[in-house]
Amino acid sequence: MTLGELLLNASQCSINQGNVQGVCMICNRETKEGLKIKEVVSGNFTGWSMLQSGDCVCPECAIIFSDQTFRKKSWVVSEKSGFRVFKNDEAAEIMFNPPEPPFFIHIAKQGQKQTWLYCLHRVATSNKRYFFSHEAYNVPIFFEREKAENYLQKAKHALQLGVTKRELIIGEFKTTTWRKAYEQGYNDFLKELSGYKKDLLWEVMVDVARV
Ligand SMILES: [Zn+2]
Repeated sequence: MTLGELLLNASQCSINQGNVQGVCMICNRETKEGLKIKEVVSGNFTGWSMLQSGDCVCPECAIIFSDQTFRKKSWVVSEKSGFRVFKNDEAAEIMFNPPEPPFFIHIAKQGQKQTWLYCLHRVATSNKRYFFSHEAYNVPIFFEREKAENYLQKAKHALQLGVTKRELIIGEFKTTTWRKAYEQGYNDFLKELSGYKKDLLWEVMVDVARV
């Protein structure tokens, strides 16, 4: 099941069929009812680099361009519970308690990049280990529950100690942060956190952590 099919099944929005026969530029499958790409994306579409070679857009994939909400908001979709948008304050709660599979979660930040285009074939089949998309990353991100729990707990603890999200995400700490850590005896903890540098799941857990 592709993300377009999941959105179609969950939201029961109407499907728009075309008459172009060929390969879909989004999901790479053959279709006889494709739409021309210009009928699907707007003039200011910025995601050309995310598309694959092909002739058209299949009706299922056209769904994901049919509503600006998919780009502007964070959302969760599942076959059983349908589609809903959420505020990023709820993101951690949703990630740890997702709907019954098949489902998919997208976290928007500025609401400008359609990074779920990288996840067309990444619909989740497990609620403990699954891929999701986050607007800041041009790749699907893998959620592993135990790892994510550990990361979230540590991110919250670090935030409570006054470490900034920016420092946690880049994995480098200011001199004043190190000094405070040495004075208060949590320098080993800080060193451990710097080891998560470039781990995308860690970065997202820092982003969604609330204290
Ligand atoms: Zn398609």
